[in-house]
Amino acid sequence: MVFPETCLNCGLIIPVEEHHLCDQCVGQAFEDANLNNIDFCDVEIIYPQGIQFHDSMWHYDKKGVLPKLIRMLKYERMERVGLELGRIYGQRLKKRHLGKRIEPLKDALLVPVPLHFSKKRKRGYNQAFVLARGIQEVTGIRIVSEEAVRRTKKTITQTKLSFGDRMENLKGVFEVNKPDELEGKYLIIVDDVFTTGSTAFSLHFAIQESVKCNTGIVTVAKA
Ligand SMILES: [Zn+2]
Repeated sequence: MVFPETCLNCGLIIPVEEHHLCDQCVGQAFEDANLNNIDFCDVEIIYPQGIQFHDSMWHYDKKGVLPKLIRMLKYERMERVGLELGRIYGQRLKKRHLGKRIEPLKDALLVPVPLHFSKKRKRGYNQAFVLARGIQEVTGIRIVSEEAVRRTKKTITQTKLSFGDRMENLKGVFEVNKPDELEGKYLIIVDDVFTTGSTAFSLHFAIQESVKCNTGIVTVAKA
């Protein structure tokens, strides 16, 4: 049986299959997290050396629909939601960064934040890879192979930790297995939510230990 798809934000029936947000909501229902920021970095964040840009798409408004979408993607096996969010982000990446800061395109590489294998098994997929697949569909940028960068340790949940404690918690968590794949590339780290930056920064540090490259960070939400 096929149910008509409705927009998860406004309830409007959407004729296109695999579509969870109507165009109107994509354009208007969310607050742009980098709207007035020409450098695509947050002035309140101290970025590690080598981070060229950070672009989060929408503010993580706790009362809004975005936390619901992220929850569906992470805990309710709604892979399609992630693909759609990735495609929407892909349009933005194309418009704002490609051919500008990221040039030539063939040097760009999407690096989804790795998930520990036990968590991935439980979840069914790595949500950051799903987002990256959506971005790839729209932009044509390749995704790094899943074995190239790994998460070797399981970490405790970081929700209540400070930035410093988070960085400590993430020490030695990421490991580069195939530096050749990353060398000299413009890496675009992909994640669902940017909170303090500790996850993306730790991954960046781990990569920088063995590889010389430029790095950008893109996330769907900014908490
Ligand atoms: Zn809508």
